Amino acid sequence: MADATGPISTLPGRGHEVPEGQTCDEHPDRPAVARIQGETDSMGCEMIDMCQECLDEHRAYMRSPEASTGFCDWCKEEATDIAPRRDPEEGMCGPVYQVCGACRKREDDRLEIEAGTYWGE
Ligand SMILES: [Zn+2]
Ligand SMILES: [Zn+2]
Repeated sequence: MADATGPISTLPGRGHEVPEGQTCDEHPDRPAVARIQGETDSMGCEMIDMCQECLDEHRAYMRSPEASTGFCDWCKEEATDIAPRRDPEEGMCGPVYQVCGACRKREDDRLEIEAGTYWGE
């Protein structure tokens, strides 16, 4: 079983170093070649250890349309460009939301306006 971490600032899907001697979560008889950050919240995240086969499957899934289709946590609309995102106001280790491209763009613009570096229309 993969370990739970403490609060962490990286987002789900991020690769982490595989500990020495770690085996695949799905195939305990195979060495893990990758450790991918799984579901993440303000308490931390789970790490998923994968052998080459599991990693290939994971990568294929991440490239598939299902991986980025879902309901946006911010505008509650269905979108096909969902990606994990934090609310900067809740800090670098706060809860992670699934947010659509339009909301991420709006948030980025808002942050740039606040920072005084906005050069958009
Ligand atoms: Zn495996
Ligand atoms: Zn949205």
